[in-house]
Amino acid sequence: MGWVLRLVETGTDNRAQSVEVMEISRPNGLRDIASLGLTLPEAKQLLARVQQAVVAAQARDHAGLRLDCAACGLRCHAKDWRPHQIATVFGGVTVRLRRFLCSGCGRGETATSWPSHCRSTPELDQLRAHLSALMPYRVAAGVLEHLLPVEAGKSPETLRGHTLEVGEHLRNAATIAPTAAAPAIALSLDSTFIRSCEDGERHLEVRIGNVETPDGCRRVFGAVARTDTDVAGLVRRSLESLGRTDDTELTAFTDGCPGLRSILADAGVTSPPILDWFHIAMRLQHAKRAAEVLSTDEPGRMQAKAVIVAKVERLHWRIWNGKAKDARLTIERIREAMHVFKGEHSHRRGNAPSRKLWHALHAVDAYLSNQSAWLVNYADRHRAGLRVRTSITEGTANFLVNRRMAKSQQMRWSRRGADLLLQVRSAVCNGTLGSGFGRLFEPMSRPHPTLPKAA
Ligand SMILES: [Zn+2]
Repeated sequence: MGWVLRLVETGTDNRAQSVEVMEISRPNGLRDIASLGLTLPEAKQLLARVQQAVVAAQARDHAGLRLDCAACGLRCHAKDWRPHQIATVFGGVTVRLRRFLCSGCGRGETATSWPSHCRSTPELDQLRAHLSALMPYRVAAGVLEHLLPVEAGKSPETLRGHTLEVGEHLRNAATIAPTAAAPAIALSLDSTFIRSCEDGERHLEVRIGNVETPDGCRRVFGAVARTDTDVAGLVRRSLESLGRTDDTELTAFTDGCPGLRSILADAGVTSPPILDWFHIAMRLQHAKRAAEVLSTDEPGRMQAKAVIVAKVERLHWRIWNGKAKDARLTIERIREAMHVFKGEHSHRRGNAPSRKLWHALHAVDAYLSNQSAWLVNYADRHRAGLRVRTSITEGTANFLVNRRMAKSQQMRWSRRGADLLLQVRSAVCNGTLGSGFGRLFEPMSRPHPTLPKAA
């Protein structure tokens, strides 16, 4: 079987113009399911040819344009043509654009508002940036090439260049105006690290945050330390975009690092921040998991394990109820009970459970001793319906940074590259990058996240 695809122009005064785009042929019959309908290569070719035909018609229309001078109002005359090669989502096109000259004052006109040195459509720029925000440049390039007749900018390096350009635009973009004033906003600010490819440093510090209103509006933001991105400015803009006013009640959460507290102060967040329950809960979880798999190969260990498991629960309860001092005593008791696990061997590779437990307790203890000023009675807050943690269940750092830039993926980052990619990734998450297709989270309506259960 065969078809001819014809594109017929409508809505013009001229007699309908038509152009044959493509011949399609398929085997007769449906014996083989593979011969059902169009194939991907055919579809790509079809899209590319339709695109070229549409652009050719648009260029013809443009060529017939008559233009009056914007300065003196006299009729302009055609000066010359300029060819432009533009990459689109459906392949590269060449457009000849007429340039005009005013017969009165000699002013030049183009009759387009294209940016100078324009090489691609905004839609393609956004698509490339969007994919790059979600997956490695090499994978994104592969996906584009596989699905679309994209010709230009298929290499990972070009994709990276385009994406960082979009990131730079986003960084300098104005605040998105809120629709309404927010009575309350919870703000979290944390830091994490990614591997650096720059000389003389192993890691780059990344600051990330999350702002949210009780009705579920949410925005994430992030910046690599020591770049042109001002993180205090990001905090301020994020708060403004959610509708912060002088009357907005602000609650700030951090992981307790003093550098982050001074950023909050720079951003005009004056109320003292609370240590995000997420950070403690995560470490308590590590301790619990390690306690549960302690070996019971000796009677003494069996008994000690039962004591330790119960005490870790107790530790959880004490911290949740704001009893930091008592919690440190519990840690001491657990440590005392642990001596029977000396020399414990791991069943699988990695550390023995007792070693893991030791490390986890150390991390909890460090929070209790260094951050005691920022610990609150989480149980009280929770009972009062107040927030105790960010609503991104895996934590903003995992959500915004690690999923794309994780240490485990062996990726190494330049300071500028990581920072600008983060601007794009935040915009994708927030649904503020162009069309907003496939945004990572929808505004949610749950006023409170699922809270960790106290023991
Ligand atoms: Zn003129």
